[in-house]
Amino acid sequence: MRDYFLRNRFAKAWQLADSLVSRGLAGATVSEEIKDIREISCHGSSEIGITPCESREQSKKYPKSFICAACNCGDFGHTQLSNIENGHYSKLDYPRVHCPKNMPGFSNYEPTTISDNNERKKLMENTFGVDYLSRLLKENEK
Ligand code: SF4
Repeated sequence: MRDYFLRNRFAKAWQLADSLVSRGLAGATVSEEIKDIREISCHGSSEIGITPCESREQSKKYPKSFICAACNCGDFGHTQLSNIENGHYSKLDYPRVHCPKNMPGFSNYEPTTISDNNERKKLMENTFGVDYLSRLLKENEK
């Protein structure tokens, strides 16, 4: 059990470090195209009938913003899932960032399998196509 927690903690620290490296000193941001997909993964879209992610939680520090309760990355400026003001750098702006549910737009996106019951992800894949969502990921890694 202790090993599991240590491994989990190490993985989260590594993911955070990877995101910070991808941002770099110049504050690089992901493309608008990928950010739009991340926005739908986290916040949903009434236009295409996708509800917000069940792990999205209201921020206690920033009333108009949300955090990811599944990440355990806390309620800080850089962990907000929304841009809280002009020029604010949110979690969805990092060129590389991980999602605990491997949702589209994130660096660890994994297409659904037959036994997968992530209906939101399936709906996004039916709307945008797995090929397009996988291609976005590869382009971001170049
Ligand atoms: S689990 Fe993924 S899609 Fe859901 S709020 Fe967290 S980062 Fe966003």
